[in-house]
Amino acid sequence: RAKSAGRGTFRFFEAQMDMRLQERRLLERDLRQALATNQLEVHYQPLVDCDQVKVLGFEALVRWTHPERGSISPAEFIPLAEESGLIIPLGAWVLRTACTEAAAWPDDKIIAVNLSPAQFRHADLAREVLTILDETGLPPHRLELEITEGVLIDDTDRTLETLNTFKEAGVRISLDDFGTGYSSLSYLQRFPFDKIKIDRSFIWEMEKNPDSMSIVRAVIALGRSLRITVTAEGVETQEQLALLQNEQCDQAQGFLLGRPLPLRDVGKLLAEPRLTVVSTDKPVREAP
Ligand code: C2E
Ligand code: MG
Ligand code: MG
Ligand code: MG
Repeated sequence: RAKSAGRGTFRFFEAQMDMRLQERRLLERDLRQALATNQLEVHYQPLVDCDQVKVLGFEALVRWTHPERGSISPAEFIPLAEESGLIIPLGAWVLRTACTEAAAWPDDKIIAVNLSPAQFRHADLAREVLTILDETGLPPHRLELEITEGVLIDDTDRTLETLNTFKEAGVRISLDDFGTGYSSLSYLQRFPFDKIKIDRSFIWEMEKNPDSMSIVRAVIALGRSLRITVTAEGVETQEQLALLQNEQCDQAQGFLLGRPLPLRDVGKLLAEPRLTVVSTDKPVREAP
């Protein structure tokens, strides 16, 4: 009896697995379709100078509106794109779109684009980035490439070579989600980072948890002594911004300072010089 119940349970899980696999396959098919039929869009989240609360540029974040399911989070479809290899054309599309759109912005605005580990495993990444810069006319110093620690554990020699190619071209490199991965400090020595982005989990906790505050403070100090810019991710409250300003954190990003915006709203934001902070509910303060 117990045996047959066990077998039943097993079949149930098997059926569930089949459904999940099936669902993934369908979603992958739809993503391929989405890429071919313009269902993808790039949104832009303001990147703000902590001190002056001034917009320095934007991070490109891909968005997918599925014809039946509505908007699907990149946290769901980026992993799928990585496993299926679709990240190669998808990543190239995001980079090209972001560089094209940012080329039309004032020439002091940075554009940050995320690169996934799978893109680094692809031999042509460096050439592809340089080609896109060339074709879109975006000056290399306005481009920032965001990578996570997942990129660094992969294949360090080739990764280093690729990163050095970017550096030589004048492109900046950020270490994204700092503190959540393997966080080997030797990475900071071995790879030529221009920026560290402190993961938002630490920013969330900062007010309640003194340990998180200590970590944030230490990373800011580390960045300062290594001459690496430090950005705080996921700033949602005035209190968090005040704490970061107090620690002289360089830059911040988060819903308080601006949500990811469709391109037309970026235009509006850039055309309104006095209002430097956009938030749907509460602006922080205006630049002097
Ligand atoms: P990320 O690169 O760390 O991007 C920041 C994520 O945090 C974005 O989520 C952004 O909307 C969200 N965020 C920003 N401020 C706040 C805040 O104050 N509070 C909260 N709760 N969240 C905030 P999103 O757009 O859903 O993207 C999730 C992740 O998907 C990104 O994390 C990045 O790893 C990946 N991703 C997005 N677009 C791309 C892309 O074009 N290429 C690649 N390879 N990955 C991408
Ligand atoms: Mg990022
Ligand atoms: Mg991040
Ligand atoms: Mg993240």
